[in-house]
Amino acid sequence: MTAGSARQAIKAAWRSARMRVGGAAAVLIYHRISSMESDPELLALSPERFDEQVAALSRDFNVVPVGEVFRLLNRPGRIPKRTVAITFDDGYADALHSAVPILHAHGVPGTVFLSSGAIDSPDEYWWDQLEQLCFAPGKLPSTITIDTGARIFSHALETDATYAPEAATRHASWNVTQPAPSGRQRLYLELASFMRQLPPAERNPAMVSLLELTGVALSTRPSHRTLDAAEVALLSRDPFIELGGHTIDHAVLSACSTEEQRHQIHDDKLRLEQLCGCRLASFSYPHGGFDDFSTESVRLVREVGYEGACTTDSDICVAWGDRFRVPRYLPRDMGAEDLAARLARWLDEGR
Ligand SMILES: [Zn+2]
Repeated sequence: MTAGSARQAIKAAWRSARMRVGGAAAVLIYHRISSMESDPELLALSPERFDEQVAALSRDFNVVPVGEVFRLLNRPGRIPKRTVAITFDDGYADALHSAVPILHAHGVPGTVFLSSGAIDSPDEYWWDQLEQLCFAPGKLPSTITIDTGARIFSHALETDATYAPEAATRHASWNVTQPAPSGRQRLYLELASFMRQLPPAERNPAMVSLLELTGVALSTRPSHRTLDAAEVALLSRDPFIELGGHTIDHAVLSACSTEEQRHQIHDDKLRLEQLCGCRLASFSYPHGGFDDFSTESVRLVREVGYEGACTTDSDICVAWGDRFRVPRYLPRDMGAEDLAARLARWLDEGR
């Protein structure tokens, strides 16, 4: 046995001992509850499927707000059997209009993570703007170049500069897990990966120059709008809903300076607490992969008074785990019975 595999074996044994003695909880991650014709990032789940999933969860599981999972991870006792939390990232308006009525109907709580900069914003999130820009039929420049001052993006569309309406319709249901059927999907993938790594101070001007270069006029689609301040206030008064922070600009924290990270985490919390008139305990790292935040981010999240934070690492959380790196499971379009069986096996037997 190598030193690495010995370490792995010790880690696994320690995890299974913690699970046996202290139990485990599953935190689920959703973004949008909406039926969408085009959903390249696979962010949406239909209200019908979500309703089935929540019905199964309310029947067989102990559903709590994620803030309660953080508290359970931080105390000596056993986590109650089959504890599950339902979370929504990004603060799309459908969290209030589609998801909350379903949570109410089944009497279970949920947590909505908000980026304060998106509240009352006239613009869609940058990934939704990219979808409009790349997939609208018409003509784009044959080469797309953006210079942020610190980084340059360049992509040649060549013959795919012109996108016919029939092609746009044919590829409307394409998503990022599938091979790109045309140059427009390749452009989307490259632009998304470029924009994702930019700190907000570079990303916003990059989007402006992209729009100037392409001449594309974006609309704010009712189906893609984010919550406004009055809607956030409504959510904050809902006894089934916990609100949490998600930075001001949906920033990839690992791409930001310490000062910028503090601003994104601290000022976001302050703005949201003023808007809601309540104290926020829960945070989720934008994009949420281990490369998307740093130990500095974790320190700042803890320092501003959050009690825990969620990642997008796909796992359950085992008793006495790190409550500032809580993994979440993405159910996507899973059938309700499959989801319930998956979670029951995971939480009851650890597999
Ligand atoms: Zn997010």
